Amino acid sequence: MANSRRTFLQNSIVAGSGIGLVSNYASELESAIKRTSKLSAPSDLKITDVKCGFIRNGSGLFLKIYTNQDIWGCGEGVDAVPGTYHLVQKFGDQLRGKNPLNVNRLFEDIRRSGFFQGAQSGMYVAVLSAIETAFWDVTGKALGLPVYQLMGGKFRDRIRVYMDTALYQSRLPEPEDFAASAQEAVDMGFNAIKFDLDQRNDPNKYDQYNWTASPAELKRMYDQMAAARAQVGPDIDICADMHGRYDAITGIKVAKMMEPLHLMWLEEPIPAENVDAYLQITQSTSTPICAGENHYLAHGFREMLEKGAVNIVMPDLQKAGGLGEGQRIANLANLYYVPFAPHMVASYLGAMASCHVCASVPNFMVLEWQIYFHKNPMFQEIVSFDGPMVENGFITLSEKPGIGVEINEESMRKYAVKDVPFFE
Ligand SMILES: [Mg+2]
Repeated sequence: MANSRRTFLQNSIVAGSGIGLVSNYASELESAIKRTSKLSAPSDLKITDVKCGFIRNGSGLFLKIYTNQDIWGCGEGVDAVPGTYHLVQKFGDQLRGKNPLNVNRLFEDIRRSGFFQGAQSGMYVAVLSAIETAFWDVTGKALGLPVYQLMGGKFRDRIRVYMDTALYQSRLPEPEDFAASAQEAVDMGFNAIKFDLDQRNDPNKYDQYNWTASPAELKRMYDQMAAARAQVGPDIDICADMHGRYDAITGIKVAKMMEPLHLMWLEEPIPAENVDAYLQITQSTSTPICAGENHYLAHGFREMLEKGAVNIVMPDLQKAGGLGEGQRIANLANLYYVPFAPHMVASYLGAMASCHVCASVPNFMVLEWQIYFHKNPMFQEIVSFDGPMVENGFITLSEKPGIGVEINEESMRKYAVKDVPFFE
């Protein structure tokens, strides 16, 4: 290869001897190639071990892939990961001795080897997401490049995030609570905010198993969102999540009712499984309908996009298949002119990993951000990174090799789930 390249360069110089521009181009190219440092011998890189730890009652999986060249890669899986310690060990057994730089091939090897073990969705894919993310991280470190560069480069340097106000944690919040929470987010510099509309404790809910909202529940939802809109005015994006806890007629009613409030989106009015029911809601309203945090792999988004059943896709990149699959989902959505707005309930490791994907696709819209980064010190302690996490509603994309955020295992240990081995 080197010889043929040199020959090509020399021929270019000869052929261009009467044309200074061509000759200069070739010699500059050759010296640029010589100047490029080779930071490691990537072809010799081999995975030696995979270790993991669980926090957040088991719904936060952190893992590290170790190699024979003293560099490692970090990954994170969320939500669909409790009880998966032994699945991580199984994947580790499959990976020892393999070169982690073949990211897509290793991802496909693990996925195909699990066709009969549930590799289509759920925990299998969520753990694979964490593993795949670690492949990208270690590849970036081996080659001296940030992950976005490995994914084809960036469309943007800063990633817009929206604040999830997490009002589901408070019991029966009033419209005034929505307004106060909206104002708090705006004061922190965010220009997009999400609220939760599903409330199990709503006294106007007649039946915990029936998913039809009562008239008083509908009024409560409208009053809450109207208070948020009135507080922040028309120039701030607001959106609402129903967490898949209602039925199709309620989804239609809520979407129609919210039209005057011009939401950025209405999220998961119904559960994830029925594409035609989503289509029915989406076709009934001008309120944009968003779903995807409970869909897996690009396969899980194909029918939804083909039918036009949602206006915005929101895969969770720590759950739906990892960073490469996230990019494939975004590119698939882009064929339908559908924006990509990833769900994100991870640590700052998962947030920055998601940012690399968001930077690498044209149709990125906005990434989820969580109030817990500001209010729960654990989220500062469990990772290490340089610079502020977020500024004025944007995350600055890391330029460090790999993801640019590291797991801090020793600080994480005190939060570890009991009776599950922690990075052993
Ligand atoms: Mg949601």
